[in-house]
Amino acid sequence: MTIQWYPGHMNKAKNQIQANLKFVDVVLELRDARLPLASANPVLKQIVPEPKRIIILNKSDLADGQQTQQWVRYFQEQGVTVVPLDVQHHQNLSELTLAIEQKLAPRLKKYQQSGVRNYTIRAMCVGIPNVGKSTLLNKLVGKKVAVTGNRPGVTKNQNWLKAPHNLELLDTPGVLWPKIEDQTNGLKLALSGAIKDSLVSASELAVFALDFWRQYYPAALQKMYQLDDSDLKVSGSDLLIHLTQAWAWQEDYERTAQKIIQDVRQLRLGRYSLDRVENNHD
Ligand code: GDP
Repeated sequence: MTIQWYPGHMNKAKNQIQANLKFVDVVLELRDARLPLASANPVLKQIVPEPKRIIILNKSDLADGQQTQQWVRYFQEQGVTVVPLDVQHHQNLSELTLAIEQKLAPRLKKYQQSGVRNYTIRAMCVGIPNVGKSTLLNKLVGKKVAVTGNRPGVTKNQNWLKAPHNLELLDTPGVLWPKIEDQTNGLKLALSGAIKDSLVSASELAVFALDFWRQYYPAALQKMYQLDDSDLKVSGSDLLIHLTQAWAWQEDYERTAQKIIQDVRQLRLGRYSLDRVENNHD
């Protein structure tokens, strides 16, 4: 698997985020709730100061709820502000506005004490592609806005968009690619749709998914594909062969693999979290 990691673009994006940091009170760092670690970009941790940083675990509607709860605890124990969200379906983002207000509580208290009412809280969204930055901006602003420069390294004129709760948002999200440190992270990102399918073969992805489900969600796997207990004991690649035979798809493993990937993505195998708190030893 070759994953492109463009240092030139990445530097440009990093510089742009750094330049914008001066103008914002909070940085909303979006991650995919199914991959709280793999969907992060380590550069952000280096450049965004903790007092300004809020991590949003987005697409929590797709993730395993128990894992999300544990990830929230994990980040909180490290003193990181974290909010699980489902930006697409949440009508109101009160958890997020509350987290922003708590983050800026000392300043807001001062405003309150001195009777200042027309203050502004400025925020920007950052994150890897596809984590829901544009969707969040649209939801916060309350209408469809043209999100500019939503690609790594693209620079555009920037505007502030007004949102309720005295918020103003930069219309240019900071976009960084995930840094794919190992094969497993690449497979996790591909399976969740964060990076292009074409970077990994369908059978490699399906075998990874089958092995993962065998380990973490065996009941869902068994139910979906009507498997016996003994089927779960074989490896992911043997299972791929078994299913191809069971479905009488000759030796069209590619077709079986594509179906499995679709089943995962359409939640037919249930909600899932690919980064596991119990396996994290950071
Ligand atoms: P961006 O590249 O970070 O700006 O991501 P987008 O806002 O374009 O979202 C990428 C895709 O994820 C779109 O198809 C959205 O509809 C979808 N999406 C965004 N937020 C959520 C969410 O909370 N849950 C689900 N299921 N999908 C979401």
